[in-house]
Amino acid sequence: MQIIMLGPPGAGKGTQSKRLAQKLKVSHISTGDLLRQNEKEQTSLGKDAKDFMNRGLLVPDELVAQMLQERFNATDIKNGFILDGYPRNLNQAKTLEVILEKKQISIDTVIYLDTSVPVIIQRLTGRRVCSGCQANYHIKNMPPKKDGYCDQCNQTLYQRTDDNEATVMKRLDVYKKEVSTLIDYYKEKHLLVEFSADEDAGVVLQKIAEYLSGNDSPKN
Ligand code: ADP
Ligand code: ZN
Repeated sequence: MQIIMLGPPGAGKGTQSKRLAQKLKVSHISTGDLLRQNEKEQTSLGKDAKDFMNRGLLVPDELVAQMLQERFNATDIKNGFILDGYPRNLNQAKTLEVILEKKQISIDTVIYLDTSVPVIIQRLTGRRVCSGCQANYHIKNMPPKKDGYCDQCNQTLYQRTDDNEATVMKRLDVYKKEVSTLIDYYKEKHLLVEFSADEDAGVVLQKIAEYLSGNDSPKN
């Protein structure tokens, strides 16, 4: 199964993608995670991307496209994937189409996680990320068992530098500018399914899983 996760920062794309990928036994591809990995390893891409990310801006399309192209050359892609954080604008959607066409892969579903602004801000400013396995936590909604440490790998949790209120607002601006074009694009292809993502992660996951297993009718 090949799925795209669409939604504002804080919609829970990462959380839902990780859980769904596990459930469906497919790969989770997050362009944000890949970029942060590059930053951590101080690759030339990481150095170029860092400043854009810290300011809440999109990393230039060419840079992300090349990174994604490389990721799609890995063999695990054949088993299916959930793409999280890409595309973020029409140009990226078209780039993705070219990459996938060459590999004769098609997208089955685009899941749009609709989320309200107060929920977004509450989620992102309280988010903590594992420095080892990138698992997401929230100081209130999803606290780790041991304060400051990952339940799964016991490494320390950190707060992303772009998860402060000012940068969150900037990320939202950038998102809003592009999202309606993307939504229209995938609606036209009859791929878009919309879910309200304001509820708890478990509730949202259940709705998506039900839909994907065919027990529910599309919401749009
Ligand atoms: P969020 O969706 O919550 O903002 P991500 O981890 O997906 O978090 O992305 C964090 C940052 O990484 C973005 O603000 C942007 O700078 C960069 N980034 C991630 N994906 C892309 C992309 N497809 N194109 C350009 N920049 C990206
Ligand atoms: Zn961890």
